[in-house]
Formats: sequence, structure tokens, C-alpha cells
Amino acid sequence: MTKRILTQKQTSHTGSRSDQFQKRTKIVCTLGPSAQTPEVLSELIREGMNVARLNFSHGSHEEHAGRIRVVRSVSEKLGVPVALMQDLQGPKIRVGILPKTGVRLETGDEISFVSTDPGASGVEKKVFQITYASLHTDVKPGERILMDDGLLSARVVRVRGKSVVCKVVDGGMLYSSKGVNFPDSHLSVSPLTAKDRKDLFFGVQIGVDAIALSFVKSAQEIHDMRALIRAAEKKLKIRNSLPILIIAKIEHREAIEHLDEIIAAADGVMVARGDLGIEMPAEMVPLIQKDMIEKSKAAAKPVIVATQMLDSMIRHPRATRAEVSDIANAVIDGADALMLSGETANGSFPIEAVRTMSRVIEHTEATLLSEANTPPWVVAPRGRDEAIAEAGVILAREAGADAMLVTTLTGNAARLVSRCRPLVPVFAETDSARAMRQMQFSWGLIPFSLRRCKTIEDLLTLSEKTLKTRKSLKKGDRLVVVSGEPVGVSGNNFVEIRDVR
Ligand code: PEP
Repeated sequence: MTKRILTQKQTSHTGSRSDQFQKRTKIVCTLGPSAQTPEVLSELIREGMNVARLNFSHGSHEEHAGRIRVVRSVSEKLGVPVALMQDLQGPKIRVGILPKTGVRLETGDEISFVSTDPGASGVEKKVFQITYASLHTDVKPGERILMDDGLLSARVVRVRGKSVVCKVVDGGMLYSSKGVNFPDSHLSVSPLTAKDRKDLFFGVQIGVDAIALSFVKSAQEIHDMRALIRAAEKKLKIRNSLPILIIAKIEHREAIEHLDEIIAAADGVMVARGDLGIEMPAEMVPLIQKDMIEKSKAAAKPVIVATQMLDSMIRHPRATRAEVSDIANAVIDGADALMLSGETANGSFPIEAVRTMSRVIEHTEATLLSEANTPPWVVAPRGRDEAIAEAGVILAREAGADAMLVTTLTGNAARLVSRCRPLVPVFAETDSARAMRQMQFSWGLIPFSLRRCKTIEDLLTLSEKTLKTRKSLKKGDRLVVVSGEPVGVSGNNFVEIRDVR
């Protein structure tokens, strides 16, 4: 069946692509003005979107709520679970509002940043407002200030009162609200701003499946965010719901220094290459990406590779060869998911971008997974659940299985199977709608949901029947099951081979 699945792409299909063809690497799409109508979102799902990202750096709560409603209704209509990830802005420092046409900074110019509003005349004097009140106490002469993703740069000359005086090193046009990075400075900024706290409460209330925390620097910040989510749930009287996943966005030098503890504290991580490549020398990012993927896989935590994967497709219908290569390499590195930002949020070709990403993923995986001698990706088991998952993956390979079936209450047992990167597709059964959506972050998992069954035999028989009806399995297919008895108790405790009847 692996072969059947891997070649299905060439055939035309009527149902959703996610049902017909199972690429293993997942796709996260950022919603925005170009991706918010039922028509476009249906196409994005058909083309392979698994997770919808709501970028809280832009848009009002009403706008996000509208997009969430559309995703939910389209996902329901197509019968494809889509996870909702709220991405908090974090303490992104920006320049203030400037004239629409922007302001030209000439190389060699002296400019100043102040945290108070300089008013319109300030622009003439090259005095710019900045959204960080303690800047003057945190930066020192000689340190770099990068603007608009590093396209413009300046160096601090002196600090005079609340004004930070700089010399422009790389000039260019500076526009309203562009991001500013301080790669040489230690800023005493908290990762959760007042806006983030309000946004988080909104996210908990509306029921997002994951919240991404920007500019994380330590594990403690993840623990603090978990406490905030719990407090919000308590206030909203949300009970017995699976916890919201916390995704740590790794985009700061200090996060790299504390990577192991951050991965341990979070439920997943994002290689946020945009800011990371400004905060650190850009040439370090490719190896950091590989290291993060390796460590996250070992911990069974999903890892998302983000930013500029198909940047040129914001403007053009065809990807550059370098972008195609970047996607293929992230697949080869073993990422769980790849992310599109502006490509879907406000680009001219959102559907084409997802289709391109799916094609590159599918082609790369087809070649990787058909290598007869590819061993399962095995890490040392740490306990019973890890050992059972790994045993299932090895059994599937040795017994020539067509697919695996995992039963899971929370998604954790399925993530332990996913971390071994099995050659065959993994159908993951759960009775929790949130677990089903949350599994959309993880490599190779095909979540589906069933009504609660009394015995494990009933559950496995119903699973087989459902997968046969969906044409995911057929009579005679060999299935390796990773499951647990009694029903309803967390954790799996047996592995078995079943030939589909
Ligand atoms: C990034 O910096 O790569 C990133 C994903 O963060 P954001 O788009 O929120 O700036």
C-alpha cells in the first residue's frame, strides 16, 4: 500500500487530497487577506494544509474569529481535521508610524530612536519612535540595530537621555511599523506583552489547539505561559479539555543557548528562521535547523520549519529552484511540518504555493521512503510507551505491513510512533476532536475519530471498517496495531499484526 499511496498523486481525485494522498510532512498555512474565504480555504485544505496559523502580529480579534469560523466549517465539510495555531506577537520591537511613502535613510546619516512619540516633525529630524520603552538603558555604543528584516542597519553612537543616537550603516527606505532587531544587545524584555495576554485569553476562549510563543528565551517562560493558559481556562470555566499545545518559537540567541530545556518544557518548537537569521549570523541557521529537528524528534515533540520557504511565490506563480531545494532539504532533515507565512496570508498565489510545497514534499518523500534499506528512525526508548511504539515500527517493517494503527486518548502514543519515522502511514484513532487536530502537527500521522467503544476488539474492528469505507485500507492489507487495554486508560501496552478482513 505504501507504493499505492506514494503514486496516487498522479491520478485525479475527487475527495480531499488529505484523504486520498497522505504526504507525511505536514503543512502550516498562515491565514490573512489572501486566505480567508471558504473557497480559498477549501482549496488550501485539498492541496495539503494541515494547520492554520493565525498571526496575531496583524489583524483584530474579529478578523481572526471570522477566519476561525470559516476554517472550522470548511474542515468539517471536507472531513479533514485542521489544527488552529495562534501565533502571539511577542515583544517584537517596531518603529512607529511613518508617512505612507516611507522615509529614506542615507548611509552615513545620523538618526535617533526614542520611545516617545516624536510627532511629525521628528521624521524630518530623523528621529524615530520605537515601541520599546527601555531601549536607552539596554543598548550600548557600538551595538548594531537592524531594521526591516535586516535590510537596513545602523550602529549606536551614543545614548543621550532617552534618545539612542545611531549612524546608518546600510541605508534604504524605512516604512511604518517595520520590525527592529538588536542582535548585540541584551534586552530586559518579557516575552508576554499586555497585548499577548489579551490575545491569549481570546485564543483560549475561542478554542485554538496550539499557541506559539514568540522570542522565547528560557523554559521558565513556557511554564509561565502554561500557568496563564490554565488561569484563563479556570476563569472561562473550561474543564476536561485536552491541554492546548505550546509551541516555542526559536528566534533568539538566548533560546539556542537554552534549547534542550525549552524543548523539554514545550510541546513543540518552530525554527523561526526570519528573526533567528537576524538575531544570529544567518549562516548558522541551516545547522541550527538540523540540530533542532534531531533534538525535537528524539523528544517526540513536533518541529516546524518556518519562513521564506516559498517567498518568491508571494509575487510569482513559480518557485525558485533554491526554494524547492530548501523544502526538500527540510523534508530530508526530518521536520514534522513546514510553514508558509506571507505566501498564503497576503500573497498573490496562496493555492499554488501550497500545491508547490505538497508536490516537493511528496516527491522527496516518495524517493526517501521507497529506499528499500531505509531503517526506521529509532531512538533509545525511555520507558514502556516508547518501547511499545518502537516495537510497532520495527514490526511493521519486518512483517511488511501496509499501514500502522495507533489508538490514542491524547495523541501522545501516536507521537511516540511518529518519532520513529515509520515507512508506512500511521492511522491514529482517538475519540477527542482536539487530539485529532493536534496530531496534524506530527509527521506521518493520519488522525481520525470514532465513537467510544467498550472493548478493544470493538475499537479495532470499527477502526478497520472505517478505514476500509474511507478507502484508506482494503481487504488483505497487513496492519500493525499499537494499542492498549483496557479501553480508556492512557498509554499503550500491546502490539499486534492484523490482516484486514
Ligand atoms: C520568524 O521570525 O521566522 C517567524 C516565524 O516569526 P514571525 O513571522 O512571527 O515574525
